[in-house]
Amino acid sequence: MVWGQVDRDGRLSQASIGLASVACELASVMRVKSTMVITTERMLHMGLENVPANKVLVLRCDHLTPMMMEGHVQAMELAVRDAAPSILLISATPEGRELAPRLAARLEVGLTADCTALDVDDLGILQQTRPAFGGELMATIVSSTQPQMATVRPGAIISDVSLPPPVIESRDLELPRGQVIWIDGSKLKETSDLAGAEVVIAVGRGVGNVGNMVIFERLAYLMGASLACSRPLADAGWMQRGCQVGQSGITIAPRAYIAFGISGSLQHRVGMNSSDIVVAINLDPEAPIMQMADIRVVADAVDVASKVISMLEQQAGLSHVIDEDALKK
Ligand SMILES: Cc1cc2nc3c(=O)[nH]c(=O)nc-3n(C[C@H](O)[C@H](O)[C@H](O)COP(=O)(O)OP(=O)(O)OC[C@H]3O[C@@H](n4cnc5c(N)ncnc54)[C@H](O)[C@@H]3O)c2cc1C
Repeated sequence: MVWGQVDRDGRLSQASIGLASVACELASVMRVKSTMVITTERMLHMGLENVPANKVLVLRCDHLTPMMMEGHVQAMELAVRDAAPSILLISATPEGRELAPRLAARLEVGLTADCTALDVDDLGILQQTRPAFGGELMATIVSSTQPQMATVRPGAIISDVSLPPPVIESRDLELPRGQVIWIDGSKLKETSDLAGAEVVIAVGRGVGNVGNMVIFERLAYLMGASLACSRPLADAGWMQRGCQVGQSGITIAPRAYIAFGISGSLQHRVGMNSSDIVVAINLDPEAPIMQMADIRVVADAVDVASKVISMLEQQAGLSHVIDEDALKK
């Protein structure tokens, strides 16, 4: 069973769809069926026939707005107690990280958080692999409780199964109102869809100061890339936590990962080492990111970014002046 997360735009999240694919592969090894359970305030009308699962169960209730995890926990508890799955998987998105431990506590089962690989053995025991000891080694964990429950980093496991359209079932739920009151979500800025981005520009401490961020935002805009960062930048509030790549951030696998002023610590690399091509711009030729990069540029990050911006603007016939209004669009 997989939790189907509905994003704030009312669509099923890409992370859930990716995870459903992984669940299908595990289910086929175990010769069982896979189910995605979607908990939502509104019925979804689009795309469910493309969900890679044998069954999609839509649980609907007015309280199941995207940010109100209390209701989602209650709905998922009902679904799990009803179907008694042997495995329960949840994406390690910010919402999934909120839902999973609460649900595990209610079900009184163990939870392996932030898995980067999953497998099942001949007895149907889920082998849950995740970084341990600050990423120094990978630990494979098995559960002693049922369902075997894990969260999985979005993008960490790639699977592409093709199945006939799932059986779709929907139910209206009556759930008690929770105690959390949602006051105002309008001030929350959306993070860019890093998980699905083909080209990612990632910035680290080597970019110097927060004032330089506008340069990298401009570069990302011109290249049609998404912007990501290392942890110190998220800690400093220069970028949102959702943009942080690595062990305690998100895991991505873009076609190109262009790292400006990032040293490439192990904790950072676990979040991007499945990228097809890595380009590193760093003053230090010995930095760990340079060792793994396909293209290495030993140079100042801001200098390189500014030159590429000029080149792209010349090609596009645009002004060299950084237009902050355009960036906000
Ligand atoms: C439990 C735990 C979890 C963690 N999780 C994460 C995580 O999810 N993501 C993450 O990123 N980190 C994580 N970290 C932190 C991680 O260990 C590193 O401290 C962090 O990744 C370093 O970020 P950085 O590369 O931006 O900075 P630094 O390590 O300070 O590197 C800066 C780099 O910029 C280069 N540089 C300096 N000036 C310039 C310039 N002018 N032009 C070009 N290059 C320049 C330097 O040579 C250096 O290589 C975690 C740590 C722990 C303990």
